Amino acid sequence: MSEETIFSKIIRKEIPANILYQDELVTAFRDISPQAKTHILIIPNKLIATVNDVTTEDELALGHLFIVAAKIAQQEGIAEDGYRLIVNCNKHAGQEVFHIHMHLLGGEPLGPLVAK
Ligand code: 5GP
Repeated sequence: MSEETIFSKIIRKEIPANILYQDELVTAFRDISPQAKTHILIIPNKLIATVNDVTTEDELALGHLFIVAAKIAQQEGIAEDGYRLIVNCNKHAGQEVFHIHMHLLGGEPLGPLVAK
């Protein structure tokens, strides 16, 4: 059983966050420390710690992350210029919060994706 993180409290609205979208499967909110002009996190409401913990039961919620990402990119006016979606897994990728989250980054040119 995974330990709850601060993201569970954001989903339940127990702590403040700039929530842009929420439904029964996912929640999207602005990152507290933006790494681009637009930096939004989209997370499943169900606690899944890392990509390594994903099961086939999660297909609907995780697929829905992409649907919501595309919808939010439209709302934010960044869809045409483009954006980047990133999911970090464990320490080599720098994952800090152990509740799967998709980073939506955009609003400006992001440069090449570099491994280091
Ligand atoms: P990771 O490195 O795990 O892929 O990304 C975690 C992200 O969560 C970071 O970009 C960090 O700024 C963001 N974050 C951590 N704590 C909070 C918080 O309490 N509120 C919000 N909105 N974002 C957070």
